[in-house]
Amino acid sequence: MAQHDDAPWTLHPDRALPAEPGVRALAREIYGHISGLPIISMHGHVDAGTIARDEGFGDAAELFVVPDHYVLRMLVSRGVRYEQLGVGADTDHREIWRRFCEQWPAFRGTPSRYWLEHELIEVFGVTREPSAATADAIYDQLSETLARPDCRIRSLFDRFGIELLSTTDPATSTLEDHAVLARDGWGDRVVPTFRPDALYHPHTAHWREHLATLGERSGTDVGDFAGFLTALRQRRGAFVAAGARASDHGHRTPDTTPLPQAEVERLYAEALRGPLDIASSEAFAAHLLFETARMSLDDGLVMQLHPGIVRDHSPALAARHGSDIGFDIPEPTSFTRGLRPLLDAFGHEPGFRIILFTVDESTYSRELAPLAGAYPSVLLGAPWWFLDAPGGLARFRELTTETAGFFNTSGFVDDTRAFASIPARHDLARRIDAGYLAKLVGEHRLSLDEAIETAVALTQTLPRAAYARAEDRAADRA
Ligand SMILES: [Zn+2]
Repeated sequence: MAQHDDAPWTLHPDRALPAEPGVRALAREIYGHISGLPIISMHGHVDAGTIARDEGFGDAAELFVVPDHYVLRMLVSRGVRYEQLGVGADTDHREIWRRFCEQWPAFRGTPSRYWLEHELIEVFGVTREPSAATADAIYDQLSETLARPDCRIRSLFDRFGIELLSTTDPATSTLEDHAVLARDGWGDRVVPTFRPDALYHPHTAHWREHLATLGERSGTDVGDFAGFLTALRQRRGAFVAAGARASDHGHRTPDTTPLPQAEVERLYAEALRGPLDIASSEAFAAHLLFETARMSLDDGLVMQLHPGIVRDHSPALAARHGSDIGFDIPEPTSFTRGLRPLLDAFGHEPGFRIILFTVDESTYSRELAPLAGAYPSVLLGAPWWFLDAPGGLARFRELTTETAGFFNTSGFVDDTRAFASIPARHDLARRIDAGYLAKLVGEHRLSLDEAIETAVALTQTLPRAAYARAEDRAADRA
């Protein structure tokens, strides 16, 4: 808080590297080999439409506060109200930015602080630290900067060195934005990801609407379960044709138990009449995960699974302000038992691949590293959401490497909807991996050459390979 007005605000070149001087020197050397490599961003929530339309970012509040659930939840936890942050209210943007700047100390020690610092200084040239006193001046400076043509999303895409970016799109998406991108020659740089969650969970009131849209988009009669599966396959095909590499599944639990045919048909017929109860809906979703693995084997889409989140923890708040506002809270997750049916059936199939993500750190050493370190189809996804922080990224390597190694992991995945934070997030992961590898070199457990080679793999080779097209994966195996 007590910052001198004349002291320029800068990034330390050794930020997030180990503090011990010997290890730090090794980490610098390793980081130097990867810091400039292109970004491969295979899972995230940037809206394809913003790239198709080459949009700008408006003002500071629109860019840094309103759409960022990490920022919103922290501000709300400090007593700021959603209305003051422009969520469900028409709040003056300068006022929103002032609230954020006043609360800047709340972010100390959090990854938001780390990312925002990187974005403000490195990407947008801000030289004063946010505070009540600097809020207006920073707001004005950012308004000017963000209006420049070189701050539109496609220019930043180039400047950030993004090689490939995956968006996340509902299964019922028309994929129009991706068609525009393909026409503009961006089809190899931005690809969709197939996300059918809304169709897999028939306890929601909106399920039947989503189903009707699915029927329309696929030109398929979804009046029975067989038709539903046909429609899903049709949409997956459309996504594959649009360049998709993966499907994405957010379930409350990782249960993959298949149901008897008659039972799933009965549940589907019941769901057509009205919402299922939670237990039936989860049994249906578990069956669909099993079916998804089968489809994946046919069309090659890599399966991504991330269970263990209680969505909209405060239903009253969700009713007032909607979802994705920072009130999705993790709960304990059991992968070992939940995935057993799916892995027993498909886990050794050469064409099948599943990438597992968690927000329950206790599963890393007990369940996920042992699964990824045994089943050839399983890769361990990067730590994300609550865990994509300096400490979370470091603990991930410590908890998983001794069992799964480095090469059974997917490489870094940023999972962000905040486009301007992508370089900050990838840079942080590279620094933490460099630090972990430096420690192994310092203890003479790896040679420096091996550490550098591994760092390059984690940054580039592994994410490319993890989400490679099925035919490329097959060629690799041959
Ligand atoms: Zn995601």
